[in-house]
Amino acid sequence: MTPADTSSYASSGNLGMMLLELQRHDSEIDALEYKRVTLPERVALGNMRDRIHEISRRAKELRAEKDAIRIKQDEMETQVNITVERKKSLEKKLYSGEVLSARDLEAMDAEAHNLTNRAEDLQDRQFELMEDLEALEAKYGDLEDELNQLSTKSDQLVSAAKSKLSDIDSQLRACRSLRKAAARRIPKAILQRYDAIRSRAGGTGAAALVEGKCSGCHLAVSPASLPSALPLFTDDDGLNICENCGRFLVSG
Ligand SMILES: [Zn+2]
Repeated sequence: MTPADTSSYASSGNLGMMLLELQRHDSEIDALEYKRVTLPERVALGNMRDRIHEISRRAKELRAEKDAIRIKQDEMETQVNITVERKKSLEKKLYSGEVLSARDLEAMDAEAHNLTNRAEDLQDRQFELMEDLEALEAKYGDLEDELNQLSTKSDQLVSAAKSKLSDIDSQLRACRSLRKAAARRIPKAILQRYDAIRSRAGGTGAAALVEGKCSGCHLAVSPASLPSALPLFTDDDGLNICENCGRFLVSG
């Protein structure tokens, strides 16, 4: 593009103003997009998902531990029943009068005594298993309570996030529409240069000159490059370029 092509913009200073307007829309769009991805509710939901994942993992472990205890309880119950039955059977024989040998009677009595002790040991073990199971049930219950609370909180966050996102998206649509209209008024070649500068200069392609400083890099602009000294630092399109950061520099 030759200076003649843009003379109507440059001579009136309108092109610079248009670039600043475009920059305002772009900055607003960038800020809204940043707000969209850093929404506190989104971050909180991410953390919450991590906790829910941890709870699910722990709950699975607890279910496996509970199942293992129940299996042991069943085994213990079977052993208790067998022991009690053996003892009853032995006592029945012992007191039936069928066994007359004192030695045999003594041996049977000793075995009955052992069976009583074994049944008691097994019952103690059953009681311990019941206590272990109760402790696990309590832990499992706590996890379920926490999960329910997280679920309620998560629903609230999702609802709040949806509302905020809808608001941001509506602002973004309005900003993009304004940006499109502003971009249409700028010659294509300059727009491409602006976009290229913007992408390499942290989102700012055009900056205002404020009190002798470029508002893009915040550095003082040498007097030689100020508008009064133009066209020393004016490019081919009749636009000022900041000597420090290379952004379009627009004086008010
Ligand atoms: Zn600058």
